[in-house]
Amino acid sequence: MRPIGPKLVIATHNAGKLREIRDLLAPFDIECVGAAALDLPEPEETGVTFIDNAELKARASADLSGLPALADDSGISVDALHGAPGIHSARYAEDAEGNRDFGRAMQRVWREVEAAGPDAGHDAHFVCALSLAWPDGHVESFEGKVFGSLVWPPRGEKGFGYDPMFVATGMDRTFAEIDPAQKHAISHRADAFAKLLAWLKA
Ligand code: IMP
Repeated sequence: MRPIGPKLVIATHNAGKLREIRDLLAPFDIECVGAAALDLPEPEETGVTFIDNAELKARASADLSGLPALADDSGISVDALHGAPGIHSARYAEDAEGNRDFGRAMQRVWREVEAAGPDAGHDAHFVCALSLAWPDGHVESFEGKVFGSLVWPPRGEKGFGYDPMFVATGMDRTFAEIDPAQKHAISHRADAFAKLLAWLKA
């Protein structure tokens, strides 16, 4: 077991993410504390890759708190769009005032896919980067993916973000139509966490 405890900062202000990460780390006897509880600011995501952004968020929290910190960054990459929206997945949903609407984001992605022409195809994958940073400057990063293709119109009510337009390879229902447990078993986030947990156990 690699030493990261007894206290770990989860570098997110999103209560849902904090709960999910706490649950995943429950077997490791590590006290997880959210960035908001420590009054840590959210740094600007200036990286050009998912790992860049996960690392800069983890590093900012580790430096300011003096504790190891874990951060994630995720999104969807579409082959026909050369990887877009990618790290800008959340930004695609925002209007000028910063309000998010993923119906609008999905419409924009589909419009751009159609503009790319029929030969460009509909292949896409979700990516999740996880970074663990220590106050001494050390950092370990892990990346998970799930491959599939885009469908139109969007289908299903269960997921969030781009789930209603994504069908994983080998499935015929979207991530918003399947049971959340089924999604969590194969998702990019599950893949990245499996890699992190394997590293912790090594
Ligand atoms: P962030 O990692 O909080 O910056 O989120 C990036 C964006 O990627 C989210 O707002 C979602 O739009 C999208 N995204 C990330 N993971 C998923 C997923 O599992 N399903 C659908 N959309 C996702």
